[in-house]
Order: sequence, then structure tokens, then C-alpha cells
Amino acid sequence: MRVYDIILKKRNGHELSDEEIKFFINGIMDGSIPDYQASALLMAIYFKGLNKREIAQLTMAMVNSGDMLDLSGIAGIKVDKHSTGGVGDKISLIVIPLAAAAGVPVAKISGRGLGHTGGTVDKLEAISGFNTELSKETFFDNVNKYKMSIAGQTANLTPADKKLYALRDVTATVDSIPLIASSIMSKKIASGADCIVLDVKVGSGAFMKSIDEAVLLAETMVEIGKSLNKKTIAVVSDMSQPLGHEVGNANEVKEAIEVLRGNGSEDETVVALTIASYMTVLGGAFSEFNEAYGYLKGIIGSGKALDKFKQLISIQGGNPSVIDNPELLPQAKHHIEIKSSQEGFIYSIDAESIGVAAMLLGAGRRKKNDSIDHSAGITIKKKVGERVNHYDTICILHTNLENWDEARVAAQNAFKIREIANKPSKYIYDVIQ
Ligand code: URA
Repeated sequence: MRVYDIILKKRNGHELSDEEIKFFINGIMDGSIPDYQASALLMAIYFKGLNKREIAQLTMAMVNSGDMLDLSGIAGIKVDKHSTGGVGDKISLIVIPLAAAAGVPVAKISGRGLGHTGGTVDKLEAISGFNTELSKETFFDNVNKYKMSIAGQTANLTPADKKLYALRDVTATVDSIPLIASSIMSKKIASGADCIVLDVKVGSGAFMKSIDEAVLLAETMVEIGKSLNKKTIAVVSDMSQPLGHEVGNANEVKEAIEVLRGNGSEDETVVALTIASYMTVLGGAFSEFNEAYGYLKGIIGSGKALDKFKQLISIQGGNPSVIDNPELLPQAKHHIEIKSSQEGFIYSIDAESIGVAAMLLGAGRRKKNDSIDHSAGITIKKKVGERVNHYDTICILHTNLENWDEARVAAQNAFKIREIANKPSKYIYDVIQ
């Protein structure tokens, strides 16, 4: 078999055989396929797509490129959750304690941020001492005893996806539905959970810019899950403006605490309750969605969900006092208020520009190995639909850097203000199961 022929076949729009897909992934792993040929095939896939069988094969070939976690040492139906990535997306921080408080074991493997969006591990590491580098024994013990644990992705889960993602990132081939679907699902399958709830984001801050594309991605991933006997549900949720009011790391932890306290903004509370409800239904704690939603909503204000988050922080070595004293979280030196240049209503907030501005302030990575500043970020003071007067503060930048000009321009330009009020988007567009 020659990789040249495989590239040619896909370039001409033909189906690849199972053997050809395995040959490609094996060649990526043993180094016999150079990056320029792998990139050419990725670009051919970007334009010509993959059918369901090809996507399932690619997913399994990536799973088989590394280890698979065997979670059979954990009692119960294990549930995992994954987001396709958004700006201000702190939903994992909220749903892990929620689902665990309902008795559903959450064995969560999480990554660091990709591009301008922060990862759950980065956010939790804003809490001093919080450790996600857990041994398998500690991870299992935590889930068995407390129904929850979160670990960073180890080096040998889906190494082929890591290599391919690094190539896609520099060859403009990230936003391809078959490639995203197989990348995400390979990691979820290798992580060993029995059921998966996917949060597929749509809008300016997400990979998928239109609802149709997001639904197609959601359907593709649910199909992969089903074909591999994993119960999978995908929720298509809004990312046309940042989720909640905080974008960054420490400030997102602070906001997650407020959501669990019952003081969260409506968008992230609804999205978190929806995701957590499907997690607990799949995990067998409830027989139907509304029952789960009602229960979880009840424990949000009662202190039970917040206590569970405090417990998660404690068992992972973090300082649980941040729950009651969020000022213990890292604080930036500079806080720069951005003012409205006119009177009117917030018509839109470009989530991607806010994500880029937060990255420029130090909250995200330009390159994979950059370090991040947990105290940096942005507080959105006015959301879509809200009225503003001239000179009202629309957002606040937090940074330790001395030069924030580029970030200030990106943040200011993210806000469009008009004389007429725009209705905020829906929070949930579709659920695929
Ligand atoms: N998240 C992933 O894990 N992979 C992708 O390809 C895109 C988003």
C-alpha cells in the first residue's frame, strides 16, 4: 500500500477501505508517513469528507493507537461529558459535582485548552494545590468513594489524535466535521466511560458557526458512540456570545461557584442543568429528563451541589476555602474597564474575539507549550439584549501584562451596539439521542 494512492483516492472523492485507514494511522504512529503526506490527506478529507464507516474506522484506529482505560474497577454506570469548546465554558466545573451529588459516577478525563478556549484542567489549576495528575488507583478510589474525579489526559491515550491535531492546527483542517467527530470520540472511547454526554457548541466562539453544521457534528458523534455501544447524547448549545460573565481561568472558577450557589446567570445555569440532567439519566439515577432537571435545580440552591464541589477540590489536593473566599484565587494586577462608545442595546458580542482578547491578556495559549496566567481574563458586564448608556462599562480586562492594547481593541470590537434591542439567542438548540 502507498500513502500516495490513498491521498489520490480521497482527493478524487472515493471511499477509503478499513485497511487504508489503519495503514494511514499506523504510518503516522511509526513515522513512516511524513507530515506533508499526512497533511495532504487531511486536506483531502477536509474537502471530500468521510462516510459513517470511514469515520468509525478512523475513530477506532486512533483509539487503538494508544491505551484504553479500563474503568471496570469503578462501580456503577460511568458517565463522561465533553464540550466541543467555547468561550467562558465552565460547564464541566458545574456538572461534575451536580451529577456526582445525584449518585452518578463521573470519571472525567480532561484536557488543557486548545486555541483560544481554555481547558477544564487549566481552570481547576487556578485553585492552589489542585492536582489532576492522578495515579489510576487514586482516580478509581475517588470515583468509588466520592462519585467523581478529574484527571488530565495521559500521554498514551489516543496518541494518533495528538499527532493529527497538531498537524490540523497548522494546516487549517481543524473545522472538519468528520475530523472533529473522530478526534473527540476517539478520546472519549479510550477514556472508557459507559455513557457520554456531548455539549456541541454553535456560534461565533465555536468551531461550528451554523446550527445545521452543529447538528450534523452532533449526529455524527452520536452515531459513532452508538456504533461502538456507548450510550451517547449530544446537546447543541449556544456559543454566539460568551457563556456567563467570566472568561479566563480563576474568574471562571469563581463564576462556577456562584452557579452552584444558585446565583449563576441564566444561560450557563440552563446549559449546565441540561447537560447534568442527561448525564444522570444515562447514569441511571433518574428515568426521565424532567425529573433529573427538577432534582438538580433543587440541589443548586440548597448547598448540596456546592458542598460536592468543595469535596472535589479537597480530594484533589486543592484549597477548599476558595468556595467561601473566592478572593483566595489568583488576582491580576491590572483591571481595565472598557466603556460603551454609544447609547443603545448590546446587539451582539463576538465570542471568538473575546476569547482571543482573553488569550492576549495571558489567559490562553498562543502555542501548545505556552504557560498561562490563571488570574488573567475578562468580565463581561453587559450581555446581548442589555441596555447601555454612553460610557457604561461593558467589560473589564484582567491582566498582569503591562501592554493590553491589542486585547483592548479586540474586546471593544467584539461588542456591537445598536439602537434596537436584539433578542438573546436560545440556550439550547437541539438534543440528539
Ligand atoms: N476538540 C477536539 O478534541 N478535537 C477536535 O478536533 C476539535 C475539538
